Amino acid sequence: MRKIEHIGIAVKNLEESNILFEKLFGNPPYKQEEVVSEGVKTSFFMNGPNKIELLEATTPESPIAKFLDKKGEGIHHIAFDVKDILTEVERLKNEGFIVLNEIPKKGADNKLVVFLHPKSTNGVLIELCQEII
Ligand code: ZN
Repeated sequence: MRKIEHIGIAVKNLEESNILFEKLFGNPPYKQEEVVSEGVKTSFFMNGPNKIELLEATTPESPIAKFLDKKGEGIHHIAFDVKDILTEVERLKNEGFIVLNEIPKKGADNKLVVFLHPKSTNGVLIELCQEII
């Protein structure tokens, strides 16, 4: 695993949070994107070298809707950049981590993504992401 690619924050209202984070960072989101298959709307901010993803649920079945119901707004996941996602999934499976989707799926911001179950990572949802070239 290489650097932290981004930190994902679950929010109730993306429009309001975009305004809030624009004030916080002093610049607007560089990208907004809906991932229909995941039931989320996202926006991405750069702050120096750091990337923050805001996520709002678009359906009641969305993982973000479930997270908000259980825990409320806050940090939802930490994403790590990987060079070769399939190799990394194999390695982590062998180490005993619970991989939520072994077949990488297309995430936001031009990435292939795989999630590790928080049960196997001390309560933190981990996203692996590989840039789609
Ligand atoms: Zn993410």
